Amino acid sequence: MSNVNKFEYAPAPESSALVDIKSEYGLFINGKFVAPKSGKTFITINPATEEVLSKIAYAELADVNLAVAAARGAFTKTWSKMPPAERGKYLFKIARILQERTREFAVLETLDNGKPIRETRDTDIPLAAAHFFYHAGWADKLSYAGLGQNPKPYGVAVQIIPWNFPMLMLAWKIAPALAAGNTVVLKPAETTPLTALLFAEVCQQAGLPAGVVNIITGDGATGSLLVNHPDVDKVAFTGSTGVGKAIAKAIAGSKKSATLELGGKGANIVFEDAAIDEAVEGIVNGIFFNQGHVCCAGSRLLIQENIQDELLEKLKERINLIRIGNPMDKNTDLGAINSAAQLGRIKALADSGDIEGAMRWSPSCTLPTAGFWYPPTIFTGVSQSHRIAREEIFGPVLSVLTFRTPQEAIEKANNTPFGLSAGIWTDKGSKILWTAKRLRAGVIWANTFNKFDPASPFGGYKESGWGREGGRHGLSGYLKGDN
Ligand code: NAP
Ligand code: MG
Repeated sequence: MSNVNKFEYAPAPESSALVDIKSEYGLFINGKFVAPKSGKTFITINPATEEVLSKIAYAELADVNLAVAAARGAFTKTWSKMPPAERGKYLFKIARILQERTREFAVLETLDNGKPIRETRDTDIPLAAAHFFYHAGWADKLSYAGLGQNPKPYGVAVQIIPWNFPMLMLAWKIAPALAAGNTVVLKPAETTPLTALLFAEVCQQAGLPAGVVNIITGDGATGSLLVNHPDVDKVAFTGSTGVGKAIAKAIAGSKKSATLELGGKGANIVFEDAAIDEAVEGIVNGIFFNQGHVCCAGSRLLIQENIQDELLEKLKERINLIRIGNPMDKNTDLGAINSAAQLGRIKALADSGDIEGAMRWSPSCTLPTAGFWYPPTIFTGVSQSHRIAREEIFGPVLSVLTFRTPQEAIEKANNTPFGLSAGIWTDKGSKILWTAKRLRAGVIWANTFNKFDPASPFGGYKESGWGREGGRHGLSGYLKGDN
């Protein structure tokens, strides 16, 4: 191994004093923080230290009823009557406040989620602001969305988001819903409620009319109450395929419309003519970004057989340089796993890789003693029948398969119940187009990976979900066309 491995970095911690975390949070209903009628609370912790951050209100039926009623009231009395350009002004205001308060949001997200500050600061929060800017521009141009001259909002949208990109998923949900004229009740994940609650304060700061955005906290049972509420017009969900299926069943036969962004098992395909060093960066970004807690992660690496040895050697050399540890340190690449439960799922699936005969490799690294951690891991000798090739691990674990011909790459890439993302690495533009045309994946990157833009639709085929988020396509999930 080269000397480069001996680099030492001085600690460069971001300050947690930048955020003011309250000891307790209520539910944000009708423009105000209120105590839960349930009288119940739960805690959220910092998964990198297991330290308790705050006590959070737990919403039950009476609370859900109040939140949906607030959203309905705001929809009929205020939001649907407001001139679209005025709605746009509120979205611009929210976007600007998010930009002004980026550092505060980034620190809070890192503390509550465990992801590195470098990512929250450079990706999560700037992209969240970008989604509000982008959709602010749409508010008064909806007749150009391709849905007829006078598309109409659904009404009350219930939005349920996961813990992997809490603030970014909030923006993906709330920005298009409001631009299209809907009002919302959003439920963040149990382990990461804090940035959504700070966003509630941003709504107050922007002077958003009461009830247009309601944030209620709780767990899966709270989410289920929201989905099943009779006065809801639209359900937007991001999370596991299992819960997505349960939601689809729950709303079947009702008038509720749904957008479901579910899991993935993305194939990252490296052809023999690819620029290897660039591909290595893309593979690392594809699976280790956000600890691999990414639905569109490039979690199945498909390498053309004749370059396997060279590529794997370079990949291991690169993984040796990944810095794991304190997510608040600006030098950290890989942070904490979001929860003990997720760590358990990752361990169990990775262990199945050992049992089923794949070969495990991890760099030698010291993991912190408190908190939840998993080293970057690659499995070689993976066959298509292995669980680690079929199931979403949602952690920093890469399954490596090989192929000999482009046709075999396509067949292996498409051999999955999912269809969210894929990557193609080759020197030839014609091969990119040939491959992309044959892949059954909603998002395909070529010679790059994990690039996001609010103007670009995101979503999948098969068990990866229904509908798209972002761009003009995403707006159609919040608008009823003239026909
Ligand atoms: P999950 O259970 O699907 O949770 C996603 C959201 O849905 C959370 O807000 C959750 O609440 C809520 N929820 C849970 N059960 C519900 C129900 N019956 N009705 C309505 N809402 C419900 O996902 P998870 O447990 O956090 O993660 C499990 C697996 O899901 C991961 O290993 C990963 O494979 C996958 N996942 C995928 C994505 C993605 O972006 N596609 C994101 C996260 C997870 P609570 O969290 O408060 O319980
Ligand atoms: Mg937390």
